Amino acid sequence: MEAVQTEKGQISIHTENIFPIIKKFLYSDHEIFLRELVSNAVDATQKLKKLASFGEVNSEIGDDLKVTVTVDEEGKSITISDSGIGMTADEIKKYINQIAFSGASEFLEKYKDKVDDKGAIIGHFGLGFYSAFMVAEQVEIVTRSYKEGAEAARWVCDGSTEFEISAAERAERGTDVILHIALDSEEFLNKARIRSILEKYGRFLPVPIEFDGEIINDATPIWTKAPADLTDEDYKKFYRELYPMSEEPLFWIHLNVDYPFNLTGVLYFPKLKNDFHVKREKIQLYSRQVFITDEVKDIVPDFLMLLHGVIDSPDIPLNVSRSFLQADSNVKKINGYITRKVADKLTELFKADRKAFEEKFDDIGLFIKYGIISDEKFNDKAKEFALLKNTEGKFYTFDEYREHVQANQTDKNDAAIWLYSTDQKAQHGYIESATRRGYDVLVLDTVIDPHFINHLEYKLEKTSLKRVDADTLDKLIDKGLANQSVLSEADQTKLKELFETVLDNKSLNVSVEAMPADEMPVTITLPEFMRRMKDMSQLSGEQSFYGVMPITYNLVVNANHPLADRVLKQGDEAGQKQLVKQLYDLALLSQNMLTGADLTAFVKRTVETL
Ligand code: ADP
Repeated sequence: MEAVQTEKGQISIHTENIFPIIKKFLYSDHEIFLRELVSNAVDATQKLKKLASFGEVNSEIGDDLKVTVTVDEEGKSITISDSGIGMTADEIKKYINQIAFSGASEFLEKYKDKVDDKGAIIGHFGLGFYSAFMVAEQVEIVTRSYKEGAEAARWVCDGSTEFEISAAERAERGTDVILHIALDSEEFLNKARIRSILEKYGRFLPVPIEFDGEIINDATPIWTKAPADLTDEDYKKFYRELYPMSEEPLFWIHLNVDYPFNLTGVLYFPKLKNDFHVKREKIQLYSRQVFITDEVKDIVPDFLMLLHGVIDSPDIPLNVSRSFLQADSNVKKINGYITRKVADKLTELFKADRKAFEEKFDDIGLFIKYGIISDEKFNDKAKEFALLKNTEGKFYTFDEYREHVQANQTDKNDAAIWLYSTDQKAQHGYIESATRRGYDVLVLDTVIDPHFINHLEYKLEKTSLKRVDADTLDKLIDKGLANQSVLSEADQTKLKELFETVLDNKSLNVSVEAMPADEMPVTITLPEFMRRMKDMSQLSGEQSFYGVMPITYNLVVNANHPLADRVLKQGDEAGQKQLVKQLYDLALLSQNMLTGADLTAFVKRTVETL
């Protein structure tokens, strides 16, 4: 091999002052320089191992190859050392002067018009070696190739486009990258800072990383191992490592695919209960064990973001903006794969032990419903395992439920009516009336249920969902069998007018109906459509028309209840008025709507009549 000749030269890039521009571009994310340089050192180490395994390295490489990061606070430098393949002087010229720098100018070329998309690019664009200049005023490389007889070389560059290469002293194979930290970046001379950056990006790097005398990483995290070699405790332990403050996960999925794209990872199902915003521990995205980001929005479908864990894929393009990512075909395939895997896992759990699955349903129902609503493919698969729970705590798949209520809850138009409650306590009286007639009532009381209900109606044929207190039962499930009224038409009109005058309330829509005698004398209901609009506008948080629309309640007087007759027959006007008010208050009470002064007056009045 030839001796290294001292040489000065110009780095061939188009823009003279590319350095300050890039430095400004990357301002908010300077810390990634360490990720990039340590990744390079890891790559060089792994390449060496590969070559050695092919028998292409003549010396013993040893089995304790590691990367060492050192901070010299006084000398104001940071050194990243490896014992990897190293570089010859020619390779430096080729890989550093040409490739690394052309990568940087390419970056500029591509993104100079998109500075407004800055946040999206930064941190996702691996600027590689070049990123050293974000924090260093001068960068030195001292390296010696693994090749037999290779001479050590030094490369120095001060951040301008000029560099110098010369012969160097280095006994061992490998590379030192020495960063002489710039004045405005001295924060990086703080050891604690460097340690935290290393822990963030390098926690699972595949080669041991030594800092301050300690190895800071786990080079073989569980997602790189075969599921067969892992116990439940291994998975739980890893979860605790990722999210130390979290409750134990319910179960997990080990992802592993190498065609048509490369993806590994472990996704955990947390206990969600009824809380969307429950510790949104984030899924962490890695590329070949290098931490990239935990902002996986647009990379992972929104409903999957309720899960926790790790995804590792070199096939997710990390160097482009988010809007581009959504359209990327690899990202789409990866999303499809993950969605399918998650659905398969749920099917498997459901089939293996339905009872255990039902017991977990309160915790995973939110996730499943969100998936059903937002992802067509998940929706198709979810038919197998998505469950509905009724007020008795029994679970049914959609098909089972349809079957269950078909005979008794089909109306005169042949539509199935599924009744539901959003609050078993508050709607107790209504549920009881319904079950007395042999109707079934579902419990749909989670934050996502208003959307889920809309979705069900949209997907299920000839099926409506109605809240159990949205109307009288005869109207909710109208079988076309009118009850006979014991009161005459004239009496019914009289009764209606009486309630209207006494109550004198514009937000009440009074009617008299013939209902079974054993049902409440007076019922208050809020029409289904009106309540849904209200709920939806509340959920979306917007002040819409429906949000501010005054509510009109239906007040239904049961013509067949003995008390209706008594109201009519009540001789003295004061007594009649009192009875109407009392009945109205009772109706309010069973809808949980009697409060404040009205409640006090009701109690007083009741005590007096007793
Ligand atoms: P990338 O890593 O994406 O190829 P970089 O700019 O980070 O781009 O590095 C350019 C090239 O310089 C690498 O591909 C590699 O050949 C070489 N290189 C960088 N760091 C090292 C190192 N520590 N040891 C050996 N070669 C290195």
